[in-house]
Amino acid sequence: MPNFLQLGIRKEINHTLKSLGIVAPTPIQKRTIPSVLEGKDVIAKAQTGTGKTLAFVLPILEKIDVHKSDVQALILTPTRELAQQISKEIKRMVENVEGINTLAVYGGQDVAHQLKKLKGATHIVVATPGRLLDHIRRGSIDLSTVQMLVLDEADEMLHMGFLPEVDDIIYETLSSRQTMLFSATMPNEIRSLAKKYMVEPEFIEVKAKRVTVDEIKQVVIETTDRRKQATLLHLIGEHRPFLAIIFCRTKVRAKKLHDALIANGYESDELHGDLTQSKREKAMKRFRDAKTQFLVATDVAARGLDVEGVTHVYNYDIPQDVDSYVHRIGRTGRAGGDGVAITLVAPKDMEFLRMIEKGIQQKFEIQVIEGVSIPDREDYERVSRKQSKEGKFSEGRRKTGGNTATH
Ligand code: ADP
Ligand code: MG
Repeated sequence: MPNFLQLGIRKEINHTLKSLGIVAPTPIQKRTIPSVLEGKDVIAKAQTGTGKTLAFVLPILEKIDVHKSDVQALILTPTRELAQQISKEIKRMVENVEGINTLAVYGGQDVAHQLKKLKGATHIVVATPGRLLDHIRRGSIDLSTVQMLVLDEADEMLHMGFLPEVDDIIYETLSSRQTMLFSATMPNEIRSLAKKYMVEPEFIEVKAKRVTVDEIKQVVIETTDRRKQATLLHLIGEHRPFLAIIFCRTKVRAKKLHDALIANGYESDELHGDLTQSKREKAMKRFRDAKTQFLVATDVAARGLDVEGVTHVYNYDIPQDVDSYVHRIGRTGRAGGDGVAITLVAPKDMEFLRMIEKGIQQKFEIQVIEGVSIPDREDYERVSRKQSKEGKFSEGRRKTGGNTATH
């Protein structure tokens, strides 16, 4: 296994990596870094949590010419949170390197402040597409010198409807640029985007890393819609997570659950698209600083977020596809830490559960907490007999007598 030095990363940065405990490149880093250094266009497909950020950040840093003061690299990413996260990662990496400047550009920030920052030498711009286009239209940012372009979480940019903006932005960059595309999935629209903007791209795929899922203890609790909230409250009382993310299907459900947590005396924050930028930032900061224990989120808002110390992920509402299950539970136990993922299932969720089992090629053991997640035994057996006639819950159930040991 080559180390970062052998991959062509300078010793100052290697030193910083070491001090952060990052010594062995992940598979996607091992394969991507040399190709990017050679100047090739690359398409990299790998699950969340496989280290894609450093796979493009590190070789880009090697290629920046600090003697020039123009923008040389542009990283486009779907959400503000990711833009902040990536720019923070870059700043961390250049701690021992002179003169590389990075600017994050995303909606909700003070524009005048951004403009002032843009006046100095900026080598790398990390941006969300919408706000970046604003700047292009105002003439406050010039991308005509961009030689390296990264489309990060390209599938998510597609899902959020950003492709037209991405098109317009790419048009502003040098046509001789090097283009890198990172994505967890490769829908057709992303393939055609790659075809349109890349020259003989190298396709690098790291197969869905089952290890990430394997490293996470997965628990499934059977409940009903009516008993869900009480079940969750029971579980968190028992697990006492250090930091937990709770996923809900909609903004309204996230808000409601957040309110319930507060009402029960927990430190909680909500994270979804209905909140102002400053509220979202505050919530993220409090969570990162471990001032709040719970973050109640929708998928989009929490996509790609990497927070250290998340011990538990709760799927309050079951995700409706395999990718989003893997993404969600990947928020815990990242890069070596332990993690527990707990999924609550109501009878109507069974088809999604089966689909997830198939996708990750694992069978779940379904647990119940008698009297909490389902009615007391007697009532329950009646219901259960009826359901097994209907073909639901016929396999793999185990009672836990109110004690789900998930530590
Ligand atoms: P992705 O973009 O693929 O979802 P990230 O780039 O956000 O993944 O990385 C996930 C986590 O793994 C981050 O906390 C990052 O610091 C950490 N990480 C990245 N590369 C390594 C490595 N080579 N060794 C250990 N941890 C790493
Ligand atoms: Mg990423």
